[in-house]
Amino acid sequence: MVYFRDNIAELKGYEPGFQPKLVDIIKLNTNENPYLPSPQAVEALNKLNAEQLRRYPDPVGTAFREAAAEVHGVGPENIMCCNGGDDLLTIAFRAFCDENRPVAYPIPTYSLYPVLANLQNCRAIEVPFDHEFNLPVELIKTGAALTIVCNPNAPSGSFVSVGEMASLADELSGVLLIDEAYVDFADENCAGLVKDFDNVIILRSMSKGYGLAGLRFGYAIASADLISGLLKVKDSYNVDAVAIAVATAAIKDQEYFRQTVEKVKKARDLLTAQLRALKFDVMRSYSNFVLAETKDCPARVIYDKLVQRNIYIRYFDLPGLENKLRITVGTPEQNDEVILALKEILQA
Ligand SMILES: *Cc1c(COP(=O)(O)O)cnc(C)c1O
Repeated sequence: MVYFRDNIAELKGYEPGFQPKLVDIIKLNTNENPYLPSPQAVEALNKLNAEQLRRYPDPVGTAFREAAAEVHGVGPENIMCCNGGDDLLTIAFRAFCDENRPVAYPIPTYSLYPVLANLQNCRAIEVPFDHEFNLPVELIKTGAALTIVCNPNAPSGSFVSVGEMASLADELSGVLLIDEAYVDFADENCAGLVKDFDNVIILRSMSKGYGLAGLRFGYAIASADLISGLLKVKDSYNVDAVAIAVATAAIKDQEYFRQTVEKVKKARDLLTAQLRALKFDVMRSYSNFVLAETKDCPARVIYDKLVQRNIYIRYFDLPGLENKLRITVGTPEQNDEVILALKEILQA
């Protein structure tokens, strides 16, 4: 259409994972948590009253900022609430990037980054990971205004050590945004770096570890100066009253959070072992999904045959991800069904 800016007209747009309407399916295609959110979060939802809906919400979500600050051992001024982690990505692109200020990130990674670069009309410097998904050294010298590292990375599930991320933050002249959407399932995280580096932004999401993908809530952790700059860019009321109340209750319930995450991590390690027993190549995953590949059957065929059994996963046919399947870790029962189905498919 002639009405759009050129970059929008040419843009393909982000393609979200398929959300089937059927209830009686095993849905392991979009990395949701298989467990319900904290009962305290559900109670907070039930206790909301109409008055909270009539009024505008707190523009910065003070209750959540305070609760998250306590969890991370920082101040509320180091936290910004977002309408999902994706909102923080949009805000960061708007804050740091334009025609003359490129973004850089290692690939393959989260497919939303190039879409946002296009929207912002900024150049995207894409630096390939090696086969083991080590941090590419070339990332240091791109001169980008914004460098993004997804850690654990999607869809590889690989993890770059905190020490390496600290060196990267130290050497970059621009901002380093560390997308920690999956870090709840890893063994360590980079949140502590915001104390030492004034150019680091940590992205957190409540969609994965907290089982709140439908709520749309995420947040940034960064130096007070970075946060106050980012606050200027966000929509005035980017998180709604319902989301603030529910997310605050959820993050306060660290006990429940840890229990659920532990269950998922245990199931992930079991699923990895079971897939390897079926001769799949599976990378060690630090997230709530596994990336698997077999020489015995094309990924596309496995995907289709799983769909026939009402099991939904993702497959990729992208550079660096040829023939790979991504399976979100489900409940132990769901994972068993996937393994059973894969056994049948590979034997047929
Ligand atoms: C899920 C995800 C996010 C944020 O998702 P929200 O649902 O918007 O919080 C960010 N980065 C990656 C890599 C993700 O997978």
